[in-house]
Amino acid sequence: MSNRPEINFASDNVAGVAPEILAALTRANTGTAMPYGGDEWTEQVGTILSGIFEREVAAFPVATGTSANALALATGMPPYGQIFCHESAHIEEDEAGAPEFYSGGAKLTVFSGENGKLSANDLAARLASIDPDSAVHHPLPSAVSITQTTEKGTVYSLDEIAAISQVAHDHGLTVHMDGARFANALVALDVTPAEMTWKAGIDVLSLGATKNGAMAAEAVVFFDPAKAADFEFRRKRGGHLVSKMRFISSQLIGYLQDDVWLSGARNANAAAARLDAGLRDIPGVEILFPVQANMMFVTLSGPVLSVLQEEGCRFYTWGEMPDGGVSARLVTTFNTTEEETARFLDAARLGAGLSVGSAA
Ligand SMILES: *Cc1c(COP(=O)(O)O)cnc(C)c1O
Repeated sequence: MSNRPEINFASDNVAGVAPEILAALTRANTGTAMPYGGDEWTEQVGTILSGIFEREVAAFPVATGTSANALALATGMPPYGQIFCHESAHIEEDEAGAPEFYSGGAKLTVFSGENGKLSANDLAARLASIDPDSAVHHPLPSAVSITQTTEKGTVYSLDEIAAISQVAHDHGLTVHMDGARFANALVALDVTPAEMTWKAGIDVLSLGATKNGAMAAEAVVFFDPAKAADFEFRRKRGGHLVSKMRFISSQLIGYLQDDVWLSGARNANAAAARLDAGLRDIPGVEILFPVQANMMFVTLSGPVLSVLQEEGCRFYTWGEMPDGGVSARLVTTFNTTEEETARFLDAARLGAGLSVGSAA
């Protein structure tokens, strides 16, 4: 067993690069190309995304999800602006203050909410509580950001997105979607990219690709190109205008063509569903949120945890319990195999004292 490869469910960015995307990079690696996005690949990304979203979009490739979120939110945002999001949001928890930095000081205001989701009612109540007579004393409500797939591995329904957008637009707020796991949510809901975004009121999207098979590529997508007016200056000033842009753009082309993004997300979600189904029946394992995409949260008893670790399974854990158990996050990805999920489940069963079929 120790000579078997480890099973790594720590994150979706522990995976390598999808072969189709590496091939697209290699195809782009011939001859010369004009820098800073003046190349044919970058133009093609805009065309492909306008097709996928069924309307003319303004799309800007960047190399990290943090820059995508921070730039998407900073665009059009006053430094005294206020951004609403869930307390678990990546922009709140995991970006070292990048949205505040890129916007020149906008304030993040967080909501709790079940299953990692912000609720339209909470947002409405909060906005209604602001007294217009004292508005100048408060940061100006400017944007709401939701994460699809959420940080808890759940997925907002189209109705939930539309309800949040409605409240936001009634108060003049921009609606941003952090789509680091956009494709996973899309295939989970089985809807179109247009339905999950602008048709439900999303104004700007951080479209992730890295976690679902790219090397380093994301796109900021504005559904009203007029709203992107100052984006390019902000991207350059923020150090995210990549000079050999064709190598970011060609990744996005390899990702979006031939449904590579969708089949990768389907594979990841199916792997998580197998883990969900298998772990559900194991004593000493508790599943904490509905498993709707490619990420799940569990508690593991001490014995289950130690066999998983002995069998070479890696994942993030926290909060040790008296029996040595922990909370854990499991993330599957575009190339997680059936063998990996089966081995993981066998190890968990072994730890719980159950008999296993296929474990060696
Ligand atoms: C991973 C992730 C990002 C982007 O992170 P980078 O490390 O900056 O690429 C953004 N949002 C969510 C929800 C994520 O999980």
